[in-house]
Amino acid sequence: MSGTLYIVATPIGNFGDITERALTVLRNVAIVAVEDTRHSRILFQQFAIDTPMLAYHDFNEDQQVERLLARVDSGEDIALISDAGTPLVSDPGYHLVRQAHKQGLKVVPIPGPSAVIAALCCAGLASDRFTFEGFLPARSASRLATLQALQSESRTMIFYEAPHRIMECLIDLQKCFGDEREITMARELTKTFETILFGTILQLLERVKSDANQQKGEIVLVLAGCQAKRQEVDESSIHTLKILLNELPLKQACALAAQITGQKKNILYAMALELKQQPV
Ligand code: SAM
Repeated sequence: MSGTLYIVATPIGNFGDITERALTVLRNVAIVAVEDTRHSRILFQQFAIDTPMLAYHDFNEDQQVERLLARVDSGEDIALISDAGTPLVSDPGYHLVRQAHKQGLKVVPIPGPSAVIAALCCAGLASDRFTFEGFLPARSASRLATLQALQSESRTMIFYEAPHRIMECLIDLQKCFGDEREITMARELTKTFETILFGTILQLLERVKSDANQQKGEIVLVLAGCQAKRQEVDESSIHTLKILLNELPLKQACALAAQITGQKKNILYAMALELKQQPV
Protein backbone atom coordinates (compact mmCIF):
# COMPACT_ATOMS: atom_id res chain seq x y z
CA MET A 1 0.00 0.00 0.00
CA SER A 2 1.26 3.45 -0.84
CA GLY A 3 1.56 6.22 1.78
CA THR A 4 0.16 9.75 1.96
CA LEU A 5 1.53 13.13 1.03
CA TYR A 6 0.45 15.65 3.69
CA ILE A 7 0.46 19.38 2.88
CA VAL A 8 0.87 21.03 6.26
CA ALA A 9 0.30 24.70 7.14
CA THR A 10 2.59 26.19 9.81
CA PRO A 11 2.44 29.56 11.66
CA ILE A 12 3.04 32.86 9.84
CA GLY A 13 4.76 34.36 12.88
CA ASN A 14 3.09 33.25 16.09
CA PHE A 15 3.97 29.70 17.14
CA GLY A 16 0.70 29.55 19.07
CA ASP A 17 -1.08 29.16 15.72
CA ILE A 18 0.24 25.65 15.02
CA THR A 19 -2.59 23.10 14.94
CA GLU A 20 -2.72 19.80 16.81
CA ARG A 21 -3.10 17.92 13.54
CA ALA A 22 -0.01 19.65 12.12
CA LEU A 23 2.05 18.56 15.13
CA THR A 24 0.78 14.96 14.98
CA VAL A 25 1.53 14.68 11.28
CA LEU A 26 4.96 16.34 11.49
CA ARG A 27 5.96 14.01 14.35
CA ASN A 28 4.75 10.84 12.66
CA VAL A 29 5.69 11.04 8.98
CA ALA A 30 8.89 9.44 7.68
CA ILE A 31 10.27 12.71 6.35
CA VAL A 32 9.31 16.39 6.11
CA ALA A 33 10.11 18.26 2.89
CA VAL A 34 10.99 21.84 3.86
CA GLU A 35 11.99 24.98 1.94
CA ASP A 36 14.95 25.77 4.17
CA THR A 37 16.22 23.28 6.75
CA ARG A 38 17.81 26.02 8.94
CA HIS A 39 14.52 27.93 9.05
CA SER A 40 12.36 24.90 9.84
CA ARG A 41 14.79 23.70 12.52
CA ILE A 42 13.55 26.58 14.71
CA LEU A 43 9.96 25.31 14.37
CA PHE A 44 11.06 21.72 15.00
CA GLN A 45 13.01 22.72 18.11
CA GLN A 46 10.08 24.74 19.45
CA PHE A 47 7.76 21.71 19.23
CA ALA A 48 10.30 18.93 19.88
CA ILE A 49 9.85 17.39 16.44
CA ASP A 50 12.73 15.10 15.47
CA THR A 51 11.51 13.89 12.08
CA PRO A 52 14.22 14.04 9.39
CA MET A 53 14.01 16.98 6.97
CA LEU A 54 14.77 17.18 3.29
CA ALA A 55 15.22 20.43 1.34
CA TYR A 56 12.56 21.03 -1.30
CA HIS A 57 12.65 24.35 -3.11
CA ASP A 58 12.34 25.94 -6.54
CA PHE A 59 15.90 24.96 -7.53
CA ASN A 60 15.76 21.21 -6.85
CA GLU A 61 12.05 20.62 -7.37
CA ASP A 62 12.38 18.27 -10.36
CA GLN A 63 14.71 15.75 -8.69
CA GLN A 64 12.96 15.98 -5.34
CA VAL A 65 9.46 15.37 -6.74
CA GLU A 66 10.58 12.02 -8.13
CA ARG A 67 12.51 11.08 -5.00
CA LEU A 68 9.73 12.06 -2.57
CA LEU A 69 6.93 10.44 -4.52
CA ALA A 70 8.93 7.20 -4.88
CA ARG A 71 8.95 7.07 -1.09
CA VAL A 72 5.20 7.73 -0.85
CA ASP A 73 4.63 5.07 -3.50
CA SER A 74 6.63 2.56 -1.45
CA GLY A 75 4.36 3.11 1.57
CA GLU A 76 5.92 6.00 3.52
CA ASP A 77 3.97 9.06 4.69
CA ILE A 78 5.61 12.35 3.85
CA ALA A 79 4.79 15.96 4.77
CA LEU A 80 5.48 19.20 2.93
CA ILE A 81 5.80 22.49 4.79
CA SER A 82 7.03 25.92 3.69
CA ASP A 83 8.97 28.55 5.66
CA ALA A 84 5.67 29.98 6.90
CA GLY A 85 1.95 29.59 6.30
CA THR A 86 0.38 27.29 3.77
CA PRO A 87 2.58 25.56 1.19
CA LEU A 88 1.76 26.37 -2.46
CA VAL A 89 0.42 29.83 -1.50
CA SER A 90 3.25 31.85 -3.13
CA ASP A 91 5.46 28.95 -2.05
CA PRO A 92 6.78 25.72 -3.63
CA GLY A 93 4.76 22.51 -3.87
CA TYR A 94 2.62 22.78 -6.99
CA HIS A 95 4.62 20.25 -9.05
CA LEU A 96 4.78 17.82 -6.15
CA VAL A 97 1.02 17.82 -5.54
CA ARG A 98 0.18 17.70 -9.24
CA GLN A 99 2.53 14.80 -9.88
CA ALA A 100 1.21 12.96 -6.81
CA HIS A 101 -2.29 13.08 -8.31
CA LYS A 102 -1.00 11.95 -11.69
CA GLN A 103 0.57 8.93 -9.99
CA GLY A 104 -2.67 8.18 -8.15
CA LEU A 105 -1.17 8.93 -4.71
CA LYS A 106 -3.16 10.22 -1.76
CA VAL A 107 -2.79 13.93 -0.91
CA VAL A 108 -4.16 15.25 2.40
CA PRO A 109 -4.25 18.93 3.44
CA ILE A 110 -3.60 19.94 7.05
CA PRO A 111 -5.05 23.47 6.95
CA GLY A 112 -3.88 26.32 9.12
CA PRO A 113 -2.46 29.85 8.88
CA SER A 114 -2.04 31.73 5.63
CA ALA A 115 -1.35 35.46 5.36
CA VAL A 116 -3.88 35.91 2.56
CA ILE A 117 -6.83 34.74 4.68
CA ALA A 118 -5.56 36.39 7.87
CA ALA A 119 -5.35 39.73 6.02
CA LEU A 120 -8.73 39.35 4.31
CA CYS A 121 -10.61 38.60 7.52
CA CYS A 122 -9.34 41.74 9.25
CA ALA A 123 -9.38 44.09 6.23
CA GLY A 124 -12.90 45.47 6.57
CA LEU A 125 -13.42 45.06 2.82
CA ALA A 126 -15.89 42.88 0.94
CA SER A 127 -14.90 39.26 1.57
CA ASP A 128 -17.68 37.43 -0.27
CA ARG A 129 -15.64 37.38 -3.49
CA PHE A 130 -11.91 38.00 -3.71
CA THR A 131 -8.93 37.34 -5.92
CA PHE A 132 -5.44 36.48 -4.69
CA GLU A 133 -2.82 38.07 -6.94
CA GLY A 134 0.30 36.90 -5.05
CA PHE A 135 3.41 39.07 -5.52
CA LEU A 136 3.24 41.88 -8.07
CA PRO A 137 6.13 42.08 -10.56
CA ALA A 138 9.24 43.79 -9.13
CA ARG A 139 9.78 46.05 -12.15
CA SER A 140 7.57 49.14 -12.26
CA ALA A 141 6.58 48.79 -15.94
CA SER A 142 5.36 45.21 -15.49
CA ARG A 143 3.75 46.08 -12.16
CA LEU A 144 1.79 48.92 -13.74
CA ALA A 145 0.71 46.68 -16.62
CA THR A 146 -0.51 44.03 -14.14
CA LEU A 147 -2.40 46.64 -12.11
CA GLN A 148 -3.92 48.25 -15.20
CA ALA A 149 -5.34 44.88 -16.19
CA LEU A 150 -7.10 44.83 -12.79
CA GLN A 151 -8.64 48.32 -12.99
CA SER A 152 -12.18 47.08 -13.56
CA GLU A 153 -11.90 44.04 -11.26
CA SER A 154 -14.94 44.17 -9.00
CA ARG A 155 -13.75 41.56 -6.49
CA THR A 156 -11.53 42.46 -3.54
CA MET A 157 -7.88 41.98 -4.59
CA ILE A 158 -5.13 40.67 -2.32
CA PHE A 159 -1.41 41.19 -2.96
CA TYR A 160 1.76 40.12 -1.15
CA GLU A 161 4.44 42.81 -1.19
CA ALA A 162 8.07 43.04 -0.09
CA PRO A 163 8.77 45.87 2.42
CA HIS A 164 11.47 47.51 0.25
CA ARG A 165 8.95 47.88 -2.59
CA ILE A 166 5.92 49.02 -0.58
CA MET A 167 6.24 52.73 -1.42
CA GLU A 168 6.71 52.13 -5.17
CA CYS A 169 3.81 49.72 -5.08
CA LEU A 170 1.47 52.18 -3.33
CA ILE A 171 2.42 54.90 -5.83
CA ASP A 172 1.55 52.55 -8.71
CA LEU A 173 -1.72 51.59 -7.01
CA GLN A 174 -2.56 55.30 -6.76
CA LYS A 175 -1.81 55.76 -10.47
CA CYS A 176 -4.08 52.88 -11.46
CA PHE A 177 -6.93 53.09 -8.94
CA GLY A 178 -6.92 56.75 -7.89
CA ASP A 179 -6.71 58.41 -4.46
CA GLU A 180 -10.06 57.30 -3.11
CA ARG A 181 -10.10 53.52 -3.54
CA GLU A 182 -10.21 51.77 -0.14
CA ILE A 183 -7.27 49.63 0.87
CA THR A 184 -6.01 47.81 3.95
CA MET A 185 -2.37 47.13 4.70
CA ALA A 186 -1.89 44.15 7.04
CA ARG A 187 1.67 44.03 8.34
CA GLU A 188 3.49 41.57 10.60
CA LEU A 189 0.31 39.58 11.19
CA THR A 190 0.26 37.52 14.39
CA LYS A 191 3.61 39.06 15.46
CA THR A 192 4.60 41.70 18.05
CA PHE A 193 4.39 44.64 15.67
CA GLU A 194 1.18 43.60 13.92
CA THR A 195 -0.40 46.67 12.27
CA ILE A 196 -3.61 46.86 10.30
CA LEU A 197 -4.13 50.15 8.47
CA PHE A 198 -7.48 50.80 6.76
CA GLY A 199 -8.26 53.84 4.60
CA THR A 200 -7.99 55.21 1.09
CA ILE A 201 -4.93 54.68 -1.11
CA LEU A 202 -3.95 58.33 -0.56
CA GLN A 203 -4.28 58.07 3.23
CA LEU A 204 -2.23 54.86 3.31
CA LEU A 205 0.43 56.32 1.04
CA GLU A 206 0.82 59.37 3.29
CA ARG A 207 0.94 57.23 6.44
CA VAL A 208 3.53 54.79 5.09
CA LYS A 209 5.63 57.62 3.64
CA SER A 210 5.75 59.44 6.97
CA ASP A 211 6.50 56.38 9.12
CA ALA A 212 9.56 54.30 8.18
CA ASN A 213 8.37 51.49 10.50
CA GLN A 214 5.49 50.87 8.11
CA GLN A 215 8.03 50.09 5.39
CA LYS A 216 9.38 47.09 7.31
CA GLY A 217 8.30 43.52 7.90
CA GLU A 218 5.92 41.25 6.04
CA ILE A 219 3.06 42.91 4.22
CA VAL A 220 -0.27 42.02 2.65
CA LEU A 221 -2.33 44.60 0.75
CA VAL A 222 -6.07 44.14 0.43
CA LEU A 223 -7.62 46.42 -2.20
CA ALA A 224 -11.34 47.08 -2.64
CA GLY A 225 -12.80 46.04 -5.98
CA CYS A 226 -14.16 48.49 -8.56
CA GLN A 227 -17.53 49.73 -7.33
CA ALA A 228 -18.75 51.23 -10.59
CA LYS A 229 -21.49 49.22 -12.16
CA ARG A 230 -22.93 50.19 -15.48
CA GLN A 231 -26.44 50.31 -14.03
CA GLU A 232 -25.32 52.93 -11.45
CA VAL A 233 -24.43 55.36 -14.21
CA ASP A 234 -27.13 56.19 -16.76
CA GLU A 235 -26.30 56.04 -20.45
CA SER A 236 -26.42 59.80 -21.01
CA SER A 237 -23.88 60.38 -18.21
CA ILE A 238 -21.61 57.72 -19.73
CA HIS A 239 -21.94 59.47 -23.09
CA THR A 240 -20.97 62.84 -21.53
CA LEU A 241 -18.04 61.22 -19.72
CA LYS A 242 -16.79 59.57 -22.93
CA ILE A 243 -16.79 62.90 -24.79
CA LEU A 244 -14.95 64.66 -21.99
CA LEU A 245 -12.42 61.82 -21.66
CA ASN A 246 -11.53 62.27 -25.32
CA GLU A 247 -10.64 65.90 -24.71
CA LEU A 248 -9.42 66.20 -21.11
CA PRO A 249 -7.19 64.45 -18.55
CA LEU A 250 -9.07 61.81 -16.55
CA LYS A 251 -9.51 63.76 -13.29
CA GLN A 252 -10.65 66.93 -15.05
CA ALA A 253 -13.06 64.97 -17.28
CA CYS A 254 -14.62 63.30 -14.22
CA ALA A 255 -14.93 66.57 -12.28
CA LEU A 256 -16.65 68.28 -15.20
CA ALA A 257 -18.87 65.27 -15.93
CA ALA A 258 -19.94 65.28 -12.26
CA GLN A 259 -20.97 68.95 -12.53
CA ILE A 260 -22.86 68.40 -15.79
CA THR A 261 -24.63 65.15 -14.90
CA GLY A 262 -25.03 65.41 -11.11
CA GLN A 263 -23.45 61.95 -10.71
CA LYS A 264 -20.97 61.37 -7.87
CA LYS A 265 -17.37 62.08 -8.87
CA ASN A 266 -15.98 58.82 -7.43
CA ILE A 267 -18.52 56.74 -9.35
CA LEU A 268 -17.66 58.57 -12.57
CA TYR A 269 -13.97 58.13 -11.81
CA ALA A 270 -14.33 54.37 -11.43
CA MET A 271 -16.46 54.33 -14.59
CA ALA A 272 -13.78 56.32 -16.44
CA LEU A 273 -11.10 53.79 -15.40
CA GLU A 274 -13.35 51.03 -16.67
CA LEU A 275 -13.98 52.84 -19.98
CA LYS A 276 -10.24 53.34 -20.49
CA GLN A 277 -9.80 49.59 -20.23
CA GLN A 278 -12.29 48.88 -22.98
CA PRO A 279 -11.25 48.77 -26.64
CA VAL A 280 -12.39 51.90 -28.51
N1 SAM B 1 2.80 30.56 2.20
C1 SAM B 1 2.66 31.82 2.86
C2 SAM B 1 1.18 32.03 3.24
O1 SAM B 1 0.45 31.04 3.32
O2 SAM B 1 0.77 33.14 3.48
C3 SAM B 1 3.17 32.97 2.03
C4 SAM B 1 4.62 32.84 1.67
S1 SAM B 1 5.22 34.18 0.71
C5 SAM B 1 6.78 33.58 0.23
C6 SAM B 1 5.67 35.37 1.92
C7 SAM B 1 4.77 36.61 1.88
O3 SAM B 1 3.55 36.35 2.55
C8 SAM B 1 5.36 37.81 2.58
O4 SAM B 1 6.23 38.55 1.74
C9 SAM B 1 4.12 38.61 2.93
O5 SAM B 1 3.65 39.31 1.81
C10 SAM B 1 3.13 37.48 3.27
N2 SAM B 1 3.21 37.17 4.70
C11 SAM B 1 3.71 36.05 5.27
N3 SAM B 1 3.62 36.12 6.61
C12 SAM B 1 3.06 37.31 6.90
C13 SAM B 1 2.72 37.99 8.11
N4 SAM B 1 2.96 37.45 9.30
N5 SAM B 1 2.15 39.21 8.02
C14 SAM B 1 1.91 39.78 6.82
N6 SAM B 1 2.23 39.20 5.65
C15 SAM B 1 2.79 37.99 5.68
